[in-house]
Amino acid sequence: MLILDTKKVTKRFGGLTAVNQVSMQVEEGQVYGLIGPNGAGKSTFINSIVGRFPPTEGVVYFNGEETTGLSAEIMCHKGMARTFQIPRPFPQLTVLENVKVGVIFGSVDKDPMPADERAREILKFVDFNLPIDTPADRLNAVQLKSIDLARALACKPKLLLLDELASGLTPGELDTIMSLILKIRDQGISIIAVEHIMRVIKGICDTVMVIEYGTTIAEGTPDEVLNNPEVIKAYLGEEEAENA
Ligand code: ADP
Ligand code: MG
Repeated sequence: MLILDTKKVTKRFGGLTAVNQVSMQVEEGQVYGLIGPNGAGKSTFINSIVGRFPPTEGVVYFNGEETTGLSAEIMCHKGMARTFQIPRPFPQLTVLENVKVGVIFGSVDKDPMPADERAREILKFVDFNLPIDTPADRLNAVQLKSIDLARALACKPKLLLLDELASGLTPGELDTIMSLILKIRDQGISIIAVEHIMRVIKGICDTVMVIEYGTTIAEGTPDEVLNNPEVIKAYLGEEEAENA
């Protein structure tokens, strides 16, 4: 069973084709990695399937149903949740309150558990030593990512899309986040992870797609893909550009 099936999804911004005919099939229960150089179109692809904006062309099937162009709110209620590359929680609300907002507005099934209790349960599951009574604007970048993840989990997703969740973490925190992602997967939640860190990709992904200039250049197991000459060239090209 495919949890996500996109057919030639394309997103243009004026004359710029940020995502170019990307067809992605994600099996239920997989951790599927999406990688590519900066500006390759990874976040735009995520945005165009979660309802932040509709794709310019192409079709999206989620959990067996066509969902092309539906809003983020509807997608969340259907069971697709995402974290942001740069999280923007409500700054004046505490950690716990931010997650409660996700619990109250994110899920349609009437949870018998009170929002407060459910939010505490999710925070305990995420377990990133979050000071739950501290306002979000006093937290560091890693803590903000953890709240954003807790907020996304509050939607009770079937598919969770993580946009560079691991970037900025220390090596020790990377191990924690990798086991957390696998623990989420073991709860039956399929995952698409946009990721840069090779250790994370090798450690958690079943399948990886590489995009460059919005276009798929490789797909396969992490080992196959990371040894692909075209993929190596795409990354080396970027490194050279950064060193210039
Ligand atoms: P990645 O996440 O792979 O680093 P993005 O999806 O953020 O790449 O960006 C892909 C391309 O689309 C970039 O050239 C970026 O400048 C452009 N882009 C992204 N979002 C917008 C937007 N809202 N309006 C115009 N251009 C955008
Ligand atoms: Mg991005």
